[in-house]
Amino acid sequence: MENINKLLMKKAIEATKFSYVPYSEFTVGAALLGKNGIIYTGCNIENASYTPTNCAERTAIFKAVSEGITEFSKIAVVGGPKRNLLEQCPPCGVCRQVIAEFADKDFELILGDSEENFVVYNFFEEVLPLSFTKKDLKK
Ligand SMILES: [Zn+2]
Repeated sequence: MENINKLLMKKAIEATKFSYVPYSEFTVGAALLGKNGIIYTGCNIENASYTPTNCAERTAIFKAVSEGITEFSKIAVVGGPKRNLLEQCPPCGVCRQVIAEFADKDFELILGDSEENFVVYNFFEEVLPLSFTKKDLKK
């Protein structure tokens, strides 16, 4: 499984080259592994009106969901200003909520700045504890 994490980091870094960020110049890339074995990538996409801006994580998730895929194993996220990747670029709160919609208890978030330097987190235990999810609606 170590190699898949490296591959996801590589794909996330590659995805930053498509970031559309004329305003912030802060590039972000994501690589999402579906349980079908397919990797869905995403970049952040800004807008002159600012509010419609979409993060890399949601771009990747929405691409997959729009193709009928809703079950995922893990996501790698990288980002930083002017193409200088931060050691870790954690997902914003909106993306954490969207990830929670499609993540199971074993879902992993991978943060780092290269194929060699990254940390793997359990999403619900370490990134979004006390989450509100579809399970809460059924209580
Ligand atoms: Zn976000």
